[in-house]
Amino acid sequence: MNITFISYEVAPLAKVGGLGDVVGTLPKFLQNKVDNINIIMPFHKIVEKNIEKYNLPLEKVYDELYPFSHSLKYPFSVYKSVLPNTNIPVYLIKNDNLFSTEEIYEYPHPEHQTSYFCDASLTFVKTALPDIDIIHINDWQTSLIPVYLRNNYRDDEILNKKTTVLTIHNLGYQGIFSPDTLNVAGLPGYLYNIDALEFFGQINFLKGGILFSDILNTVSRTYAEEIQTEEYGYKLDGVLKIRNEDLYGILNGIDYEIFNPETDKLIPYNFNIKNLENKTKNKLYLQEKLNLPQNKEIPVISFIGRIVEQKGIDLISEIIDYLTLLDIQIIILGTGEKKYEELLLKYQNKYPDKLSINIKFDLDLAQLIYAGSDMFIMPSKYEPCGLGQMYSMRYGTIPIVRYTGGLADTVKEFYCNTNEGTGFGFYEYTSSNLLISVLKALNVYFRNQECWNTLVKNAMKTDFSWDKSADEYILLYKRSINKKNY
Ligand code: ADP
Repeated sequence: MNITFISYEVAPLAKVGGLGDVVGTLPKFLQNKVDNINIIMPFHKIVEKNIEKYNLPLEKVYDELYPFSHSLKYPFSVYKSVLPNTNIPVYLIKNDNLFSTEEIYEYPHPEHQTSYFCDASLTFVKTALPDIDIIHINDWQTSLIPVYLRNNYRDDEILNKKTTVLTIHNLGYQGIFSPDTLNVAGLPGYLYNIDALEFFGQINFLKGGILFSDILNTVSRTYAEEIQTEEYGYKLDGVLKIRNEDLYGILNGIDYEIFNPETDKLIPYNFNIKNLENKTKNKLYLQEKLNLPQNKEIPVISFIGRIVEQKGIDLISEIIDYLTLLDIQIIILGTGEKKYEELLLKYQNKYPDKLSINIKFDLDLAQLIYAGSDMFIMPSKYEPCGLGQMYSMRYGTIPIVRYTGGLADTVKEFYCNTNEGTGFGFYEYTSSNLLISVLKALNVYFRNQECWNTLVKNAMKTDFSWDKSADEYILLYKRSINKKNY
């Protein structure tokens, strides 16, 4: 079985969110289960910096190729590097007109950039990787790949043998553009049709991916169900229902080599289940670093993530006044919408001894927060999988979540009487429900230390490694090959 991943983000070469984490990790866990695996991504500006930072090899393997169908007739070259600490090839599609912005998503016409990347990737596959069986695409940016395959390259003897698997990492982002994009992309005009890419007078790239890929999946079972409902479907629930038989949910894992409290070099005190005193030392260090009163008895509740509505930031801000009446400390690390950032900073001025608001992207501080906090809140409105709750559990920090999507599949309500469970949570999206869950957690923390220790150990023992999920992906690939043969 030969597999090519095609993605806009691949950590650590270029990462904005969970998409980059997944594509940068999953191939490592697949490589021993398949014959060949490689990755294709754009040669974004940031990639060049990261290749230097990680001291990776880089060689030009193709020059002056032209995409078969796209109307932008810029040439592209292809460079080869590897995923750090592996021998998995990463092929980088380079064109300086399209991929040279400082930020990945800054180009004024993302529809030109992404459609060009899709067609250029297929041109490269036919030219250099003809034996690939499965093309694994990710999110809207690569969703035109099966559209080209099933329409433009239907009669191409190499490309028409490829099967496609589309992973939807977040249905909230779909790639919606004006209908004349089809012209620019070199795709047939008949695709502007309700049974193809047409979407309320526009065209929708992700809809194309959903309709034309052989197999679809998303990053948790619950989210795979939820997106087929009006509430979570972002107007694609009907289309997803049509593909219901080919739609699966596979939970993301986390990289246990990087996220390991016993060996993590980013935290000052390493620890494990038998040595939780060191977790407390990380807490004291964290409090000092963020100018909060140093006191190991005070519970530290944290949030790390994008400061946007999806993450439930409105619920958090609604209860801050109340929470500050309690003997607790709250740490927030993230960037996002200005109005929420400003609101949070206002609270910071009001309660400097209880709140630490950090508006920045800082991976080192994130790791210290995962290790040094007692609780981690993630009251998301929707959450395809979510990584923060898994990282925090790995570091013995108890998640308080809204049971939706991947949060519902990874956190189990804790009960002191049975000693089972890994966190606390609620269903209906209201701030009073979030507050009740926080109070439930604090109640155990303050009143029953033995129970709390059991809970911390339960969380740390939960297995979120990639191995199991990688096996499920292999089954998915087999299904997509069978489907094609059928
Ligand atoms: P999403 O992909 O929706 O943004 P996830 O929970 O799946 O959310 O993944 C977010 C990842 O990005 C986590 O690894 C989280 O720790 C990290 N992260 C988010 N914001 C920041 C930040 N400001 N600083 C450091 N890491 C961050």
